[in-house]
Order: sequence, then structure tokens, then C-alpha cells
Amino acid sequence: MKTLEEYITLAGQSHGHMCPGQVLGIRMAMLGLRSIGIDDPAKARKRLLTFVEIDRCATDAVSVVTGCRLGKRSLKFLDYGKVAATFVDLETGRAVRVAARENARDKAKELFPAIADASQAQLEAYKVMENEDLFDLQAVRVKLQPEDLPGRPRSRVICAQCGEGVNDGRERRSGDRVLCRSCAGERYYEELRSQESEVRSQEAERAGGTS
Ligand SMILES: [Zn+2]
Ligand SMILES: [Zn+2]
Repeated sequence: MKTLEEYITLAGQSHGHMCPGQVLGIRMAMLGLRSIGIDDPAKARKRLLTFVEIDRCATDAVSVVTGCRLGKRSLKFLDYGKVAATFVDLETGRAVRVAARENARDKAKELFPAIADASQAQLEAYKVMENEDLFDLQAVRVKLQPEDLPGRPRSRVICAQCGEGVNDGRERRSGDRVLCRSCAGERYYEELRSQESEVRSQEAERAGGTS
């Protein structure tokens, strides 16, 4: 495992700036990994899975330390709005959930009163505060399904309505129809008029104008 300062440099490059949230994320990941017996995440890439519970600064730093990434299916994002993460060793099944303590922020603000910039003071404090003051840590068990794991897709079906392919059992079944989640009513976007029908209606207008 690299040092805190080394991770701070790497995380700053990857995230675009350095901030208190990232220092917290780095320390959260270092603590989590050590707690499940992983001392060198670079050598444990294939056996490590991380669940993050917020889409903010800390999460980018967790990804830098663990090497877990969304595109590799080793990083799972759960939109719970909490500065917390769970680290899972797939080989041993050991897992811990590490959550930032609610009062860590207040304690951090008191530690370096001489630093005028509040964010900088918080950042410096997060570097030196005890793990016990920063985090709550709990051994947990995470039930993982084969279709959630890294590796090749376990299945692929075609949605009966839109014709798009769906991997890894994310489809919905309605009677004997297989649908993607969007077509099954879980669509997160609203369709605007398609380009194709736009072109057709423009052509129709033009044709109408010249006749
Ligand atoms: Zn940030
Ligand atoms: Zn569909």
C-alpha cells in the first residue's frame, strides 16, 4: 500500500483538485483494506470489490486507492447519499463497511484554528486525526450474485419492445415478454421526437410548401 501523501498526489491528479472529502476517502479505503487483510491493493485487484454510497469527492479517492472501477464491475455505486463504503475480499469473503462519523467534521474544524481557510484546515485535520475519530467500522457480509461479479456477462437477452440488448439478468419479465427496465416502466428519461421523424416531418413540410 502507498502512503497517505502518495495517494493524495494520485487522487488530486485523478479528481482535478485536492479537497477534504478526498483525504477522507483515501483514509477510509486504506482503513477498509487493512481491516480485511489486504495490504497491497495493486496485487489484489481481481479479488477486491468496493461498494460506495455517495457520488461525491470521497468516492473518487476510494477508487484511486482500491483500483476498483465502475467499468470493471469492481466498483458498485449505491445512491444512499452517505460518506461510506464497503470493502469486500472475494477470496475470503471478508468485508467491512466504513462510514465517516457525523461529528468528524466538527472535530476537524477545531484542530487547526490557525489555518484561516476552513476547507484547508479540515483537509489538514483529516490527514492526522485518529481512525476512531473519523470512522465507524463494522464487519459485514455482502451477498453477491454471480451476475454482479466482474468477468464476462453471464447472460444477454433482447428487449421485446425496443430491441436493445440487456446483460447480466437486468431484464424484467412481464408475462412471457422479456423487457428492458426502461420499457418495463423504469425509464429515467423522456423521449423527445426522434431525429428520423423530425427529418420526415421537415420533408413533409417542404413537400407541402412547394405543391
Ligand atoms: Zn473534491
Ligand atoms: Zn426496451
